[in-house]
Amino acid sequence: MLSNMLPVKQAEEIILGLVQPLDRHQDNEIVDLSSAAGRILAAPVTSHLDFPHWDNSAMDGYAVRFADVQNCDEKQPAVLEVVEEIPAGYQPQRSIQQGQAARILTGAVMPAGADTVVMQEETRAEGDRVFILAAPESQAYVRHQGAFYKAGTPLLPEGIVLQAPEIAVLAAAQCTQMAVYRRPRVAILSTGDELVTPDQPLQPGQIVDSNQYALAALVAQMGGTPLPMGIVLDQPEALKDAIALAVASADVVLSSGGVSVGDYDYVDEILAQLGAQIHIRAVAVKPGKPLTVATFSTDSASNQKSVLYFGLPGNPVSSLVSFWRFVQPALKKLSGRAGDWEPVFVQARSRHDLHSDGQRETYLWGRLDLVAGVYEFELAGGRHSSGNLINMAQTSGLAVLPAGQAFIPAGEPVQVLAVSG
Ligand code: AMP
Ligand code: MG
Repeated sequence: MLSNMLPVKQAEEIILGLVQPLDRHQDNEIVDLSSAAGRILAAPVTSHLDFPHWDNSAMDGYAVRFADVQNCDEKQPAVLEVVEEIPAGYQPQRSIQQGQAARILTGAVMPAGADTVVMQEETRAEGDRVFILAAPESQAYVRHQGAFYKAGTPLLPEGIVLQAPEIAVLAAAQCTQMAVYRRPRVAILSTGDELVTPDQPLQPGQIVDSNQYALAALVAQMGGTPLPMGIVLDQPEALKDAIALAVASADVVLSSGGVSVGDYDYVDEILAQLGAQIHIRAVAVKPGKPLTVATFSTDSASNQKSVLYFGLPGNPVSSLVSFWRFVQPALKKLSGRAGDWEPVFVQARSRHDLHSDGQRETYLWGRLDLVAGVYEFELAGGRHSSGNLINMAQTSGLAVLPAGQAFIPAGEPVQVLAVSG
């Protein structure tokens, strides 16, 4: 499908529709618990353990038989013989008989025969006897085996990102290795005769290839493996070779530069020559209008895979904005997450007047601050030109002016695309 200057939302839908998520059977690897943070589960996890593993006490107090204490009060306390003390980690040795109790500490295993815990504050100890001063409820302060999780039932589903809480659950379940999706491989190449690496002395007219580094950082932040493929000159043969190599080595290819209609812009032509299907050539967005999205089908006999190609604008500001708006959701979907790949917009109060030319959907960069529970958008200082990369530092949000809306006054709400800051 080929369209000119697609609306942003439509471009997003086309892109997400083109993404082939990694396959949970083919595209997984086993990792240790200690290196699982941020990875995505490729198979559901179950545990052979109940949680809690045993009936245990939720309080420091006395394990008793409810029948022995149900009618007591301060005036007529129940008097029980304390036959054992059960700290955490200790296996009770005695079964509690009528008229008996065990001293028990938080987390400790309930002794056989006891069904209820009386908290310490409602008791008085005297030698090997304890006075129960108030009737508890039946089964009070007992955490029952399997109350939180029953062995063999689903513990964690496939497709979730493993963060601290999930890591804790896996550790508690003694799951020391797990299947996660492999990291998506993202080839990055920069096109342009004027580009040099950051360590090369600049000759007049030359520009440092900052996109290579910015895009690699973004890919890594998204859990992907960046494959930096360097600078490619604006020469059709060199470009063709570089793109062919990138497509052969990656799940996603990001090129920057050479996608507008300048004389030296060969990328689209080369894509067509290499057999790519081009789905998007331009999006009605500012910055970032020239955006090529294409797919390559590489059906090597056994495993048919499709490589997604993004031809991003060379302009460093446009290339960052395009990544956040279009590439990031695609990478999230590709990486195996079960959902939540759509971009995150929050409503914020703008601290400044926001202007656009009113034509294309416009993204203005700045900081998203949470002030007393309300988001505020602080427009980056300095000129908002796609030529000005410098004031993009510390960007954590992009304020959106929809097409046709040229002005949002200070103090008014604005939708802001949250980006990692
Ligand atoms: P292009 O899209 O190739 O027409 O490039 C647009 C502008 O972005 C030009 O000023 C280029 O010099 C600049 N540019 C292109 N590629 C990069 C890059 N990888 N890093 C920094 N600037 C770039
Ligand atoms: Mg160029």
